[in-house]
Amino acid sequence: MRMLKLVILPLIISSMITGVAALDSEVSGKIGLRAVIYYFSTTIIAVVLGIILVMTIKPGVSQTADHIDREGTTPNVTTVDTLLDLLRNMFPENLVQACFQQYKTKRKELEPPKASEDTTTIPPLTTTIMAVVENITKDYKIIGTYSDGINVLGLIVFCVAFGLVIGKMGEKGRILLEFFDALNEATMKLVQIIMCYMPIGILFLIAAKIIEVEDWEIFKKMGLYMVTVLSGLAIHAAICLPLIYFVIVRKNPYIFTLGMAQALVTALMISSSSATLPVTFRCAEENNRIDKRITRFVLPVGATINMDGTALYEAVAAIFIAQLNDYALDVGQIVTISITATVASIGAAGVPNAGLVTMVIVLTAVGLPASDVTLIVAVDWLLDRFRTMINVLGDAYGAGIVQKLSKRELERMDLTSDVDVANP
Ligand code: ASP
Repeated sequence: MRMLKLVILPLIISSMITGVAALDSEVSGKIGLRAVIYYFSTTIIAVVLGIILVMTIKPGVSQTADHIDREGTTPNVTTVDTLLDLLRNMFPENLVQACFQQYKTKRKELEPPKASEDTTTIPPLTTTIMAVVENITKDYKIIGTYSDGINVLGLIVFCVAFGLVIGKMGEKGRILLEFFDALNEATMKLVQIIMCYMPIGILFLIAAKIIEVEDWEIFKKMGLYMVTVLSGLAIHAAICLPLIYFVIVRKNPYIFTLGMAQALVTALMISSSSATLPVTFRCAEENNRIDKRITRFVLPVGATINMDGTALYEAVAAIFIAQLNDYALDVGQIVTISITATVASIGAAGVPNAGLVTMVIVLTAVGLPASDVTLIVAVDWLLDRFRTMINVLGDAYGAGIVQKLSKRELERMDLTSDVDVANP
């Protein structure tokens, strides 16, 4: 995973700049618009699917809420904060800083659980949940003032602007373009070598997780909730996305999914769409033969903002928590959940457990206690893997669909350009 993370930066920069520079601005605008329409519509479909499932299965209804612990405080995240962070991240002040720092509004730290005088009264469920919260905050620093992740969004905006300028510079621009193209090829070769080590890494990652789990009892209690999320993700991956792909592209979607298998397994193992990006590129271009001019544009943006799996999970989790609390939601609140789950999924970074943090937006929007994220945190390590898989699959299908819709523009470009830098 560390090796994959290592190549994200050169990969995003080289692929975005060459991708955009190889397109003319009119074509890239059209491709961008198509991609954004696809991202939004599939995310909304995922949210609606999640809501239907959780309202039908009702995983939280029969359970009592008396074991819920609300002593721990949670990060003070609001929708406005997230939207503003998103904007600030899009326009970083310093390019070098953007390579290793994401902007995050200063938020309250998650306090460790207060020690109770009579520890025997703490039910095991609560103890386990709080232990996992502490563990996650320690490992991923998700609720710190600054995330130590790359500001992918800021880099994307810079690369799009830089690529557009290079594309218009003529002969001088060509030198830069060839440089970034060579950098892209070299990075992809590195990815190929890293992939050889994948099976060993995967083995140890999973073994470590299994050893960490001490209280298997928690899985029984959360079972139905997990079934709801997982069946929603499965339906989205096996029916919704393939159907859209088939209607637009008229090709077998399951062969497409098979072509993405390596990226999906990687996403499942490392729970991060950003870290999976190198493998997503390789599968989309080599196995599914998607034009590099499309993947270089659609995949990095998709890994940052298109998260169908996360959106579905956020909607299900919020309603599950409401059910646990015996909190009746009206139609307005359900609509609020759909909107905030979509915003929360766009705002979540492509890193492990990011969706769990932005979950607070959805809960507070409908008046549920934000501290109740602690209820679902214990199973998040597992659900995160599956939703990341769907996030990656959604990005890949997006690239396939945008390619089909942009066929005419791409063909026109092939006829007019003498040297095709994106596909030399
Ligand atoms: N881990 C997810 C991803 O990287 C984000 C999330 O936590 O939902 O796509």
